[in-house]
Formats: sequence, C-alpha cells, structure tokens
Amino acid sequence: MSKPGPKPFYHEGIRFECQGSGKCCTSRGSYGFVYLTQSDVKRLADHFGLSVAQFKKQYCGSKDGRVFLMDPPEANGDCIFLEGGNRCGTYVARPEQCRTWPFWPENMKAKTWRREIESYCPGVGKGRLHTREEIETILRNQEQD
Ligand code: SF4
Repeated sequence: MSKPGPKPFYHEGIRFECQGSGKCCTSRGSYGFVYLTQSDVKRLADHFGLSVAQFKKQYCGSKDGRVFLMDPPEANGDCIFLEGGNRCGTYVARPEQCRTWPFWPENMKAKTWRREIESYCPGVGKGRLHTREEIETILRNQEQD
C-alpha cells in the first residue's frame, strides 16, 4: 500500500529492463561497493563450492558490520566478478544489490534519478513497467536486509 503524502516522481511507475551494459557493475564513487546480505554470502559460497568462511576470506571485506565484495589490489574499481566489461561471472548467484538495481534507496530521489541514473543506465525507460507499489516493495525489502 502506498503511503499518503506527496507523490514520488515514480508514482506512475518506471520502465526498466537490463540491457547487459555492465555499467552498474563498474565503480562510480559511492556506488562502487557491492554489499552482501548473509543469504548472498551463502548463495555465492555454494556457487563457488566454498564454505562461507572460505568465501569471505577470499572475496570479502567488512566495515561497520557490513560485508562487501573486496577489490583485489590491482583493481580498477569494477566488480571482481565482472567479465569482459559487461558480463557477470556469477549471474545466477549474483547478490541482492545487483538484482534490485536501479531501485536502490539512494537512487530514488528525483534529482539523483534524473541526473545520474536515467542518463547512466541504458535499461531505464526500456522493458516492463515497474509499478510504484512494486518499487516500494523492493525498497522496503532492502531496508530489512
Ligand atoms: S556480482 Fe555480478 S551483477 Fe553484481 S556487480 Fe558484480 S558483476 Fe555486476
């Protein structure tokens, strides 16, 4: 159910369909971190045939209790699992953060959306219409992670 009050800029919904550009997998300042939920860590560890501890040791860092994919020392800021500039090397097991792009709380301010996300991501404006309710459910679920 939508909250009362001013309508958000996305009240008529937003069309989005991933175009496989890989742009959301490359570093863009504060968007550079891929944070992992506990379920992400477990799913990715299983995907690589590792224990959770081994996966964390090999691929993760943590800060303030949040686990994220660690860049190797020679990294350019792109995700460690990005292959060939636009292909996710772990797509079937990819983290929740990657599944919910571009509907992240920090993206859903009108200015940010129009100035940064819309012009940056070629999937915006394409494909299926995501309703306001659907977008708000995605946002709420991220708050609970
Ligand atoms: S895990 Fe995959 S989808 Fe997520 S940022 Fe890395 S390459 Fe992109």
